[in-house]
Amino acid sequence: MNNGILYILAPCYNESEVLPMSSKIFLDKLNVLISDGKISDKSKVVFVDDGSKDNTWQIIESLHELDSHFLGVKLSRNRGHQNALLGGMSTVADECDMLVTIDADVQDDVNAIDKMIDEYYNGNEIVYGVRDSRESDTAFKRTTAQGFYKFMSFMGVETVYNHADFRLMSSRAVKALLEFKEVNLFLRGMVPMVGFRSTSVTYDRAERLAGESKYPLKKMLTFAFDGITSFSIKPIRCITSLGIFTFVLNIIFIIYALVSHLTGNTVPGWTSTVISIWFFGSLQLIATGIVGEYIGKIYLETKARPRFFIEKYLK
Ligand code: UDP
Ligand code: MG
Repeated sequence: MNNGILYILAPCYNESEVLPMSSKIFLDKLNVLISDGKISDKSKVVFVDDGSKDNTWQIIESLHELDSHFLGVKLSRNRGHQNALLGGMSTVADECDMLVTIDADVQDDVNAIDKMIDEYYNGNEIVYGVRDSRESDTAFKRTTAQGFYKFMSFMGVETVYNHADFRLMSSRAVKALLEFKEVNLFLRGMVPMVGFRSTSVTYDRAERLAGESKYPLKKMLTFAFDGITSFSIKPIRCITSLGIFTFVLNIIFIIYALVSHLTGNTVPGWTSTVISIWFFGSLQLIATGIVGEYIGKIYLETKARPRFFIEKYLK
C-alpha cells in the first residue's frame, strides 16, 4: 500500500506575500517524501485561489508553469476558507490516494505530514493535526480560540480539540465528506461525522510567514456561530429548559401570592395580575421550545446528510 499519491491542498486568499515562500516549502516537502519513497511521483501541491484580489492567481499560474508538481484551482469569487477547501477537494478527489489540507501561510508544521502519512499507511483514513502549544499566537487569539472549542463542545458540537483544518484524509474519506450537501460549511464538525478509522498527530504551530490574518475577530465569531447553528439544536433545547425552570418557579410563586392574598398582605388586583404574568410567561417559553424542537427536526432533515458510510463488507 506504500507509495500512494499525496495531494497537498492549500486555500489562498490574497496570499501573494506568502505564496513565493510557502510554495517552496510545500514543494521541498513533497520532493523529500518522493525521494524517500513514501509517496508517488504523481503527488502534487494544489493551490485553491479563493477569489483573491491581488495577484495570487498569477503566482499560481507561474508556479504551475515552472514545475508540474504545482496545480491550481480558481474559484469564481471569494467564497471563504471552508468553501475554498471543499471546492479544491471536490476537484481533485479522484486523482489522489490521500489529501492533506493546510493553510497557505504555513502556520502548520509541514513536517507533521510525515507522521500523518505513516498513520495513513497504518490504516487510518483521517489524521487530525492537533496543535501542541499555541505560544506563537497572541494571548488574545489563544484565549478566544480556546474558549471557542470549549463553548462548541458545551453546545453539543463534536470537534477535535485544538484542531483546525490541517488534516490528512484518504480519498475515500474525502468522497464521503463530499456527500454532505449542506451549504453552511463547518468542516471541523463535518469531518468527525464521516467516521472511519481516525487518529491525530501533534505539532507546534508557528507564526504566519508573511501578510495578515484573514480571520479577524468578527469573522471568527461568525464562524463559531455558524458552527453551532449548523450542528446543534441545543440552543432551542435551552429555551425548553428555561420554560420548565420558570414553570417550577411559577408554582412556588403562585403559592406565595395566594398565601399573601389570604393573609391580607396585598393590594387588590396584585395576586391575579402577577399569577397571570408568571403562568403565561412560563407557558409561552415551554410552547416556544416545543415548536422549536420541530423546527430543529425540520432543519436537520433539510440538510439531507448521509445516514451512514460502509467501512467494510465481508462476503
Ligand atoms: N482563506 C481563504 N479564504 C478566505 C479567508 C482565508 O481561502 O476568505 C485562507 C487563507 O488564505 C489561509 C487560510 O484560509 O490559507 C487561513 O486563513 P488565515 O491564516 O488568515 O487565518 P488564521 O490562521 O489567522 O486563523
Ligand atoms: Mg493563518
